[in-house]
Amino acid sequence: MLVRKDFEPFASKVWLSSPTMHGDEKKWVEEAITSNWVSTVGENINEIEKMTAEKVGVKYAVALSSGTAALHLAIKLCGEKLYGQPKAGHGTLENVKIFCSDMTFAATVNPAAYEGGEAVFIDTEYDTWNMDPAALKKAFEIYPEVRLIVVSHLYGTPGKIDEIKKIADAHNALIVEDAAESFCASLEGRQTGTFGDVSVVSWNGNKLITGSSGGMLLTNKEEWADKARKWSTQSRENAPWYQHEEIGFNYRMSNIIAGVVRGQFPYAQEHREQKKAIYERYKAGLQGLPVSMNPLNGEPNYWLSCLLIAPDVMCRQVFGEKDICYVPEHRKSCPAEILEALSSINAEGRPIWKPMHMQPIYRMNPFIVRDGNGRARTNAYIEGSALDVGMDIFQRGLCLPSDNKMTKEQVDRVVEIIKACFE
Ligand SMILES: *Cc1c(COP(=O)(O)O)cnc(C)c1O
Repeated sequence: MLVRKDFEPFASKVWLSSPTMHGDEKKWVEEAITSNWVSTVGENINEIEKMTAEKVGVKYAVALSSGTAALHLAIKLCGEKLYGQPKAGHGTLENVKIFCSDMTFAATVNPAAYEGGEAVFIDTEYDTWNMDPAALKKAFEIYPEVRLIVVSHLYGTPGKIDEIKKIADAHNALIVEDAAESFCASLEGRQTGTFGDVSVVSWNGNKLITGSSGGMLLTNKEEWADKARKWSTQSRENAPWYQHEEIGFNYRMSNIIAGVVRGQFPYAQEHREQKKAIYERYKAGLQGLPVSMNPLNGEPNYWLSCLLIAPDVMCRQVFGEKDICYVPEHRKSCPAEILEALSSINAEGRPIWKPMHMQPIYRMNPFIVRDGNGRARTNAYIEGSALDVGMDIFQRGLCLPSDNKMTKEQVDRVVEIIKACFE
């Protein structure tokens, strides 16, 4: 464990990305309590559905208990559209393959498995750290029968979703767009969350704005929005008793949580500006070091600032299943060393999302890189040994503290400690 005795730790912890309350949240939560609307029905829910649809630029938004629940219903909607309603106890995607982002949070892709589908992971591109359109094209050559793509926008930077949409259209495929991390980010004047046949945002505690938890399903199709709302409230039919023609879920958002989201809404842009300033200060401060920042595309929301270390200054490192071993070297560093240094000054960093094709649960799933069918064969980092882009970014990258409340001085101290790691 590297402890930097020469660096003063922060008096209070500097977080990766923590909630920032402004006071308005209290008003709407209190109103819900005073009016006794403490349930999954109420004015806060109605309001944030309207506000989200308007802000993102879609016709309908459905408030749900989490981004993951929204992804589940989004994927289920597409599955049912493509393959019909399954028998009770069966998924909509049984025995079918789905193309999925590879370097992302597991919540993006697990819902495909809930519905019985088999994720085929598509490699990442260096340009945006998101799904590589060239690898997606390759995947359609290998599996021309696939009709569903689940794609995320990582760290607030939009992927090449316009290109991905063209490829999807050419193959008659639907898109589920995971904009959980990229609320308020846009590409050519269009916000992320408008590109999918169904899209999703999240109000998890570490996102740009939060409800403590919660998420939204977004779509322009009224029938789909109605169906998601029905599924989310146990699939009750319009009958005097509990009549069920479909399997249901308890996925609806609470009016209390919706109150927190409602209070946060006016501050989304402010949070984005603060995060942008942090990103730019890191970028300027780290100039001259053999590192680069995570890429930008379109108008990101700068949710997290990340680093990528140049291959020739990486320490040797070996990944185990649950730990990592590295050899500290003069003038070299690696994500593990920088994360330890950050932790020693009471700051929170994080590894890059470990790609899904490297995860034990998904190890047997197909994985497509732009040059064909790739598969990880080693966990050791030897310069240039990574076999795909996702693995390479995972091995050389990390997320820096990006809390919107960080001061300039705090960003500067993080920069200094990163510099020290390369001494
Ligand atoms: C946070 C996140 C989710 C899940 O959202 P929850 O609201 O936490 O369920 C999904 N995908 C990505 C990429 C995320 O970062």
